[in-house]
Amino acid sequence: MNIILLGPPGAGKGTLSSKIIDRLNAVQIATGDIFRYNISNKTELGMKAKSYMDRGDLVPDELTIDLVWDAFDKVEDRDQRIVLFDGFPRNLDQAKALDMGMAERNTEISQVVYFDVDDEILIERITGRRVCEDCGSTFHIMNNKPQKEGICDKCGGKLIQRNDDNEQTVKNRIAVYNDFTSPLVEYYEKAGKLIKIDGAKTPEEVFNEFNDKLGK
Ligand code: ADP
Ligand code: ADP
Ligand code: ZN
Repeated sequence: MNIILLGPPGAGKGTLSSKIIDRLNAVQIATGDIFRYNISNKTELGMKAKSYMDRGDLVPDELTIDLVWDAFDKVEDRDQRIVLFDGFPRNLDQAKALDMGMAERNTEISQVVYFDVDDEILIERITGRRVCEDCGSTFHIMNNKPQKEGICDKCGGKLIQRNDDNEQTVKNRIAVYNDFTSPLVEYYEKAGKLIKIDGAKTPEEVFNEFNDKLGK
């Protein structure tokens, strides 16, 4: 199954993703993680993507779409697993490219999980987000505290704040989401693929709602 996690920044896509990966046979393709990996390894792609990300703008499609197919084509036993798209597609052209590439591979997007969350919650979640600089695990200073402040529960790495998780950039990211990404809700609703989830609930409740609605 190929599943898209669709929702504004801070909605909880990455958090749900890691629960699905832990508990179901799933693998994730997260474009933001791929860009950040390239930035920290100072690749050409990373250098090109960085200024867009620091502003909270979308990285251009020509830098984004190909890397998604590279990642998808490397997934082992793709047909027996859940492939989660986290943070992609983010505009209509990306969604159309995704549909076309899926058709070329004789497969399709099965479902699109849409996270419904209010803007005030998003800002509180993003500004309080802390991520492990080694393994990428995500925490929150209030909602999801690590056992030891500043230290990752999973690997002992240092928890840091993402460059773009400041109030200024967050506001732009939410505006970019409203302008370019939110039309995808209607796009996938028309295709009969949309599942709506109440993203304001706890991470455990969000997982349960996802699990209940999966395949229906
Ligand atoms: P996204 O991947 O959609 O940008 P994340 O999963 O990284 O969002 O979550 C953003 C922040 O909110 C993180 O700090 C995370 O720990 C916290 N968070 C995620 N889901 C919930 C939830 N259901 N309730 C409260 N806090 C959450
Ligand atoms: P969040 O879920 O908090 O918005 P992501 O890690 O998904 O964070 O994305 C971080 C940044 O990476 C985005 O603000 C954007 O600049 C870039 N990015 C990620 N995915 C895409 C995409 N599909 N298209 C264009 N830019 C992207
Ligand atoms: Zn870690």
